[in-house]
Amino acid sequence: MKPYKNKINKIRSFALSLIFIGFIIMYGAIFFKEHQWLVIIFMTLGVLCILGSTFVYGWIGFLSTRAVLVECPGCHKHTKVLGRVDMCMYCNEPLTLDPSLEGQEFDQSLNNRSKHKD
Ligand SMILES: [Zn+2]
Repeated sequence: MKPYKNKINKIRSFALSLIFIGFIIMYGAIFFKEHQWLVIIFMTLGVLCILGSTFVYGWIGFLSTRAVLVECPGCHKHTKVLGRVDMCMYCNEPLTLDPSLEGQEFDQSLNNRSKHKD
């Protein structure tokens, strides 16, 4: 199993899970019907999760415009690369935009190192 995933896909699944968590929290409010303040807290948390997810989806949209569309050398599909190193959305092939990193072992920390540069 490969530990890394394409960043955009990863954020998208995070946003999707936030929606589910939000609904589960709001559903949980039903069990506290006798305590109105608990219902209010649960409902607020649930709404916050769903709002957060909406925000994350908007953020993905913003990131997608900054991502570079490349053809994956592994599966020849077009995938979006975010940052210096990223994985192919389809086959998890490690991809890099920096020629100096080509052939190097894939390492998530390569992204963090470049963060301060740009
Ligand atoms: Zn691929």
